[in-house]
Amino acid sequence: MNDQKTNNNVQELYGCNVFNDKVMKERLPRETYKALRSVIENGTQLTLDVANVAANAMKDWAIEKGATHYTHWFQPLTNITAEKHDAFISPAADGSVILEFSGKQLIQGEPDASSFPSGGLRATFEARGYTAWDCTSPAFLKSDARGNTTLCIPTVFFSYHGEVLDKKVPMLRSMKAVSTQAMRVLKALGNVTSSRVVSTVGPEQEYFLIDRKYYEKRIDLMLCGRTLFGAPSPKGQELEDQYFGSIKDRILSFMADLDLELWKTGVASKTRHNEVAPAQFEIAPVFSTTNIAADGNQLVMETLQKLALRHGFVCLLHEKPFAGINGSGKHNNWSLSTNDGINLLEPGNTPHDNEQFLVFLCAVIKAVDSYSELLRSTTATSGNDHRLGANEAPPAIISIFLGETLSVILEKIAKGQKLERGDKIFLKLGVDTMPELPKDNTDRNRTSPFAFTGNKFEFRMVGSSASISDSNIVLNTITAETLEDIAGRLEKSSDTSKIITEYIKEVYEKHGKIIFNGNNYSEDWVKEAGKRGLPNIKNTVDALKSIISEKAEMLFVKHKIYMKSEVHSRYEIYTEQYSKHINIEANTALLMVNRLFIPAAVRYANELSKLTGSGKSSAVKTILEKIISLLDSIQNKTINLENSAKKARAESSAVKQAELYRDSVFIGIRELREDIDTLETLMPADLWPVPTYADMLFNY
Ligand code: ADP
Ligand code: MG
Repeated sequence: MNDQKTNNNVQELYGCNVFNDKVMKERLPRETYKALRSVIENGTQLTLDVANVAANAMKDWAIEKGATHYTHWFQPLTNITAEKHDAFISPAADGSVILEFSGKQLIQGEPDASSFPSGGLRATFEARGYTAWDCTSPAFLKSDARGNTTLCIPTVFFSYHGEVLDKKVPMLRSMKAVSTQAMRVLKALGNVTSSRVVSTVGPEQEYFLIDRKYYEKRIDLMLCGRTLFGAPSPKGQELEDQYFGSIKDRILSFMADLDLELWKTGVASKTRHNEVAPAQFEIAPVFSTTNIAADGNQLVMETLQKLALRHGFVCLLHEKPFAGINGSGKHNNWSLSTNDGINLLEPGNTPHDNEQFLVFLCAVIKAVDSYSELLRSTTATSGNDHRLGANEAPPAIISIFLGETLSVILEKIAKGQKLERGDKIFLKLGVDTMPELPKDNTDRNRTSPFAFTGNKFEFRMVGSSASISDSNIVLNTITAETLEDIAGRLEKSSDTSKIITEYIKEVYEKHGKIIFNGNNYSEDWVKEAGKRGLPNIKNTVDALKSIISEKAEMLFVKHKIYMKSEVHSRYEIYTEQYSKHINIEANTALLMVNRLFIPAAVRYANELSKLTGSGKSSAVKTILEKIISLLDSIQNKTINLENSAKKARAESSAVKQAELYRDSVFIGIRELREDIDTLETLMPADLWPVPTYADMLFNY
């Protein structure tokens, strides 16, 4: 636990468990350091000599800090990370051990891949999978409460035949793709200082904390991550007294530990606050490159869960742990910047900067409009179906919030109208089509799924339990695609201002339909979006189909993000994961109903019937009748759910199976829930077998 002293030592603690640039500089011979930097920055080949020296330095550093093991840390297609620990020990002939870690062990590992999802890419007889060091993301140490420490080496994961089995390889490829195309645009616009463009992301993470004693009595939370049953608490979030409210001591002590732990592993945890729903909170780090941010977010999720247990809580990362109150997501703040620190989505001080800004802005608008279905697919999971399009922020329709000022600027440029000198907009260019743009775009629209927030876009559809990789891979790739097009045009012309004006006009006319500054929760918007032809894909099964659309396949193959077989494997895996999750929910619901709720209701009915025997109380009789009739209904719905789950399990086509889970099993669980939740409101508290919403949400 933290104390005053550690709090004062943030600078010393920050990154103390990371083999970062500073440590490398200190511990590696100059030549090795330079070679490694070149691999990291320019993607040059890593030689075994360099790897050997780096491995040795890494091992010495880790052992000094108490590590006994190392692991290749990777991200299979499950949204969580995987690790297999190996000790540094190597027994010597004289009965002692030496501690070893070679360059080869650093750069390559060979975990058995047969138990990770591969979507048909890997037959079991060639179960080998390979992990390879990703030296662009720093190695770090992970310790448990007792100080058992492991050196974690971020790695990529692929099959014997070289097919990608993780989310890191495509992420790195997408970063390269967007960098290549963005650099072409920058060069065409006369940039001579930058050599690379990086995509950046700051993922805000929402989560729930509930007391561990309740969690342990809720098998639905334990197995599904969400409550399958539970009548609403008499008080929910309607008083709006939680959001940004003062943080309770017990929570703050958790958050303080969380910050310290994250700082030690180099995750720059920055913001912490109460969220909208009771027992809901948020943590946001300072942004970094998409690759490192994705690794960092995995660490955030892992650390949240680990530390919650140490504080007697359980951290729920499910998108909708509780019905009737807000669910959790991630706000994926995404931007592009050059290696010399120019944010390409930030309006600048000079007309030239602003031209550049408008090109990148329009490229993103065009990308999101052209590939909105693909972007939607990256947020599709059974958990997120409870948020997107299901009466909760944000809707399943992708639109872009630009804010009034920018929208007006684009519109006027597109229509060839003169821009006016105003408080916010004033011109700073001979060509009076290009304004100086307001720097502080404080317009905020909390309902938009994709909002421009002054110097970045905030994509708010990502689920709280998801890896942020899929969404950022697609954001990078679709932007690479549109940048490629405008780069080609700019390279061919000497009058770039003219090309840019034409481009803005074209994007505004063809893709302006994606811009929406109003309330995304309103019914009117759903209708309006329909008229504009914007897709409204309400569930995972449909959303995932766009991964294998011809358009998406062509895009991925062209930018070398995935091979066709890899696209298909991902589609298969995600579709199967949907079915598996709903199946687990059905099994859990049935178990709870048969073993907890029906027996409780029968006990109560039995007690009541003892009293009605005398025929004295009509109130007792009425209650008994209600319980009996609910029991009958529950019985029927249980049988229906059992049957539909059986039918779904027997279906051999993965897509049809997922559709059955969506259309009958998922609905069956919900129908059963209605009766159980009514039953809960009628039953004596001491006979109700699980903790209530009020317990879980307010008693901490
Ligand atoms: P909010 O009001 O939504 O909390 P903040 O300004 O606090 O917005 O930022 C939210 C997140 O956006 C933080 O993680 C922050 O680091 C990140 N962010 C800021 N600038 C950028 C950028 N250029 N690229 C990516 N993320 C950024
Ligand atoms: Mg935000």
